[in-house]
Amino acid sequence: MKIIYLDYAAATPMRDEVLETMKPYFSEKFYNPSATYLAARDVRQDLAGYRGKCAEVLGAKPAEIIFTSGATEANNLAIRGIYQRFPEAKILVGAIEHSSVIEPAVAAGANTIPVLPNGQLDLARLETMLDDQTVLISVMLINNELGSIQPVSEIAHLVARVRADRLKSGNKLPLYLHTDAAQAGNYMDLHTSRLGVDMMSINGGKIYGPKGAGLLFVKAGTQLSPLFLGGGQEFGVRSGTENLASIAGLAKALELAQTDHSVQTKQVRQLREKLEKGISDIWPEAVINGGKNRAAHLLSVTFPGQDNETLMMRLDELGVQCAVGSACSASSDEPSHTLKALGLSDDLARATLRFSLGKNTTQDEIETALRSIKQVLAG
Ligand code: PLP
Repeated sequence: MKIIYLDYAAATPMRDEVLETMKPYFSEKFYNPSATYLAARDVRQDLAGYRGKCAEVLGAKPAEIIFTSGATEANNLAIRGIYQRFPEAKILVGAIEHSSVIEPAVAAGANTIPVLPNGQLDLARLETMLDDQTVLISVMLINNELGSIQPVSEIAHLVARVRADRLKSGNKLPLYLHTDAAQAGNYMDLHTSRLGVDMMSINGGKIYGPKGAGLLFVKAGTQLSPLFLGGGQEFGVRSGTENLASIAGLAKALELAQTDHSVQTKQVRQLREKLEKGISDIWPEAVINGGKNRAAHLLSVTFPGQDNETLMMRLDELGVQCAVGSACSASSDEPSHTLKALGLSDDLARATLRFSLGKNTTQDEIETALRSIKQVLAG
């Protein structure tokens, strides 16, 4: 049976070039980059090169790149690092953020910004929630369940206005904007100054790179407390011996993803639209979630009256791999907080599947997947 993988939002297969870049650090280049002999100095130079490459791709300075173990850690560092530095200040996060943003934010007393039924953050509500005590706003670029593209650049303009007002009124509290870009690397420009963000989380596992690899862009001057104390690596912000293989793979994957994000968007969007149309033809009651402004690779579909676990398992038996909500929440029985924030009932949330496409998805695969979906829905 041919397997049709439609869960690229959970994990992407690694590119060959990425694997090749990583290999030397598992063997002859195993040295600790902090050691002082010549061979280690070489590895230290490689590390600087990968940091420089990530910085170049993101329009940042090398010292603004903090390597982490993935987006979960980068998100925790951004939220908790600001909270530790400004414990009295307020944090605002989108209601449909990934749990690795929502959970540390809620633990820090944050308020959540509602979303509109079209999957877009409610900017008017954000404006009313933002006050003199707000120090951090965190809003993702692309939602991992719906694919909805969030208005991060508009929020950056609002932040700039508030900063100018604070300067005039003598309010010395900084206001930072963080974005979780974990789903965006293959499909959007991640140039940090064009986006206007102060912090940005990225991970390797979603961009055809290694899992357990990520980074947090931290704009110079951002007052962030470290979460780990110890060796002082990563400019004292993230202690621990650097994982050279992961860093090398992440840098390569990020470079390649950003080079062809426009091509990927065109190719994947066309296939996603074919899948979307095919599903609507097969099952006219199906509802596509997340509005019109969505990233190319994601499709969230509610099949009223159906049970998503059953559908997903039956599709799996036919070789079609898709997801129930996000992979990260799949282990809990709770219906997705994202779908609930959109206003879906528990029953509708439990009738929702997520299909996500990628660079290896083909027309043929979509046609076969549609036949399987039709068979499963026919009961
Ligand atoms: N943020 C978003 C939007 C995600 O989709 C994911 C992964 O599913 C994460 C964060 C967590 O990333 P990681 O598994 O690298 O910690």
